[in-house]
Amino acid sequence: MDFQFAPQEEAFRQELRSWLEANLPADYDPDKFAWEMEAEERFHFQMAWHRKLHEGRWVGIHWPREYGGRGATLIEQFIFHEELERVHAPRPANVLGLLMAGPVIMHWGTDEQKKRYLPKILSGEELWCEGLSEPGSGSDLASLQTRAVEEGDSFIVDGQKVWTSWAHRAQFCQLFVRTDADGPKHKGMSCLLVDMKTPGITVRPLVQITGDAEFNEVFFAEARIPKANLLGPKDQGWQVLVTTLMFERSGIGLDLPVDATLQQLLALVPHVEINGKPASADLAVRQKLAQFSIECKAIRYNVLRHLTRRLKGIPPGPEGSVGKLSGSELGLRMAAFATELLGVYAPLTADSPFTVEQGRWARTALGARALTIAGGTSEVQRNIVGERVLGLPKG
Ligand SMILES: Cc1cc2nc3c(=O)[nH]c(=O)nc-3n(C[C@H](O)[C@H](O)[C@H](O)COP(=O)(O)OP(=O)(O)OC[C@H]3O[C@@H](n4cnc5c(N)ncnc54)[C@H](O)[C@@H]3O)c2cc1C
Repeated sequence: MDFQFAPQEEAFRQELRSWLEANLPADYDPDKFAWEMEAEERFHFQMAWHRKLHEGRWVGIHWPREYGGRGATLIEQFIFHEELERVHAPRPANVLGLLMAGPVIMHWGTDEQKKRYLPKILSGEELWCEGLSEPGSGSDLASLQTRAVEEGDSFIVDGQKVWTSWAHRAQFCQLFVRTDADGPKHKGMSCLLVDMKTPGITVRPLVQITGDAEFNEVFFAEARIPKANLLGPKDQGWQVLVTTLMFERSGIGLDLPVDATLQQLLALVPHVEINGKPASADLAVRQKLAQFSIECKAIRYNVLRHLTRRLKGIPPGPEGSVGKLSGSELGLRMAAFATELLGVYAPLTADSPFTVEQGRWARTALGARALTIAGGTSEVQRNIVGERVLGLPKG
């Protein structure tokens, strides 16, 4: 493994760094963006930032040039995430369109579909959501029940999706439906590109434990979707779904903010007292921080190992699952440790005069659980690592 970046990669880093210096608003305050803005204000700020990034050709850098991206290498994507993280800049807004719907349309779409959808995903004019999970189908997506029946030149869709992130904001949904209920469950599934304004679609936001409402229930009652919106072959949606999950997992692994959380924790510890002394002097606390730091380093090297493997042309291995599992679990443990240190101060929010850092740690700890579930739960990742890395028998 080579830990040095090549000169052209350092040049890429410099170009991005200069652009960020010139374009990130001078009064941008990452704490205000993350912890003080109301959901609507944060959304509008992120959309404006998305448009600015798009003007600078910094949206979808991993997309091929022919579709408006930069054809960025994996290392350049890694640098892109590092540089945005360094200045705590927000990510582009159309996360699911850029990470999943767009690349899947490039892979499976017709020329008309690519022309119709891709430019507006990149510009952020059309936001996307992903309709996979249902009340009875999450880890086992092959069991999904939302059905689509052919009628003339349309599919008539009935059923329900759940945990659909961004559905309340999205113009389009990449929707997985059952088009043949008689065959084996991995067959008879199809993927539709669905306009969320179609009559018969109802979106109901779900409020999370953090108080935010970022995902939704989506109901379909005789929603008529044109057959031209079928993505990939009918009844072979399982292959489209596997491609979609592959893009999702490869993205999540690169982007877990464990280093940033560690830095915030290190900044907090000297200001917390244990028995009248700063917690940073406490041996047990120091030991814990050292352990977190070691794990952060190990995760970073695992990401680099993943990239090295991909650069050598070897297909993505189980490092993606190792990274997702260890990163999301570490994030949760670090946030939980901070709330332990803060004790009774942890749950106090910005409106209390005794709040510590606007109550960010309790919110982080509550929110961190989500990353251990989204994109495949920790148990499912452990199964993958157990079976494909350690060669254990299937449970
Ligand atoms: C923040 C967030 C955003 C999300 N966004 C979206 C989205 O945009 N679109 C979308 O479609 N979905 C989304 N999801 C849903 C997510 O993909 C599912 O929650 C996840 O796949 C788990 O499915 P489930 O909730 O149905 O749990 P289940 O699959 O019912 O699992 C329940 C429990 O059983 C365990 N379990 C299940 N199978 C096994 C097994 N084989 N071995 C061992 N243990 C097992 C699980 O680990 C879990 O603890 C989101 C979830 C979160 C938290």
